[in-house]
Amino acid sequence: MAICEIVTIGTELLLGEIHDTNSRFIARALRDIGVDLYRLTTVGDNLNRITATLQEALMRADIVITTGGLGPTVDDPTRQAVANVFNVKLIYKEELWQQIYDRFSHYNRIPTENNKRQAFIPQNSIAIPNPVGTAPAFYVELGVKTIISLPGVPREMEYLMNHFVVDYLKKRYDLRDEIILPWVIHTVSKGESSIDEIIGEMEKLSNPTVGLLAHPGQTDIRVTAKAPSAAEAEAMMAPVLQEIREKLKDYIYGENETTLEKAVADMLNQTGTRLSIIESGTSGTIYGKLRAFMPEDNLSGDTVDLVFSEETLNRLINEYREQKKADMVLGVVLSPRNADPRVQIAMLHNGKLTEVNRLYGGPSGDALTWAINVALDMIRREFIQK
Ligand code: ATP
Repeated sequence: MAICEIVTIGTELLLGEIHDTNSRFIARALRDIGVDLYRLTTVGDNLNRITATLQEALMRADIVITTGGLGPTVDDPTRQAVANVFNVKLIYKEELWQQIYDRFSHYNRIPTENNKRQAFIPQNSIAIPNPVGTAPAFYVELGVKTIISLPGVPREMEYLMNHFVVDYLKKRYDLRDEIILPWVIHTVSKGESSIDEIIGEMEKLSNPTVGLLAHPGQTDIRVTAKAPSAAEAEAMMAPVLQEIREKLKDYIYGENETTLEKAVADMLNQTGTRLSIIESGTSGTIYGKLRAFMPEDNLSGDTVDLVFSEETLNRLINEYREQKKADMVLGVVLSPRNADPRVQIAMLHNGKLTEVNRLYGGPSGDALTWAINVALDMIRREFIQK
């Protein structure tokens, strides 16, 4: 089983000036061919630090893929770092120079002496032709280990991944087109630690793997299987998914692409329930989320400015039921963001009033998402209790 690490090189990544989208692209490509990615590292344009990072990565992994630092300036030190790792010199390759020259000529430009740096690659390395840019990419093999150095420019990196690296890795590591298939089960109103208590044993599995991802008010359970085909991966994860579904029952609102608002809107649409929403402190977000999936006739929403008061909210939702001729009225008041986040929700449905008044213990920046999830889940529960 081949283990890989990615090292992205570039000081601008460390300064937060650009997003590291290269890692994401490479990670997905590796996932699709069944290579295990164990670590992502980002390092600035510093020769010694790149060399050390590559040495460490190569001790742990079979494959190290780098991006960036292949340009023509002194700040582009990847070539030298790879040469240092293997204790070899950089050597000039006439054919690379020709490739650079031709590319410049194609755009009626003449390469500078600096560009010649790009025609130097570590001894024993093999150049990967780069028809979409000037930075020559290369790889070096040593026993079972491989370093592959790709340009930083995403378009060039992606081209070389798709047209060379993926097939090269498949052949070199005899990868039998294994794919890694992810499946996500979404739950709401149950914290990560309570879910952990229920399915903790399953989190020790190795294939498929089971992991948790917490969001404010929601927890995702991510199941990932690795197999030669999607059908086999699905078959491997089926009993695990089934067990999770049985154990978490009603806390599950959907799987994979489903969102909570979509699940709730589906329930309202299927039952032809007309909903009227009154929101304070949430900028009309709940209405907006449901509106994306619901017809205008069945949904109305108003933004008001309320302070916490059960009496006021209850009076208002009763008035709304009359005025809007709604089957269900939901009132949500989120306290100002600078206070301890607190949400008050009242829901009137089929003559039954349900009230919730809760404090949020997480970071105040997450309070809005949390409050929306609590409110949407109150609607959802009306339909699963039946
Ligand atoms: P070139 O010689 O074509 O400049 P290079 O290999 O030297 O290629 P860098 O100079 O390191 O690449 O990066 C070129 C540009 O590519 C950066 O300015 C940035 O816009 C983009 N880039 C680099 N690394 C990443 C990354 N990890 N994710 C997304 N974009 C990146």
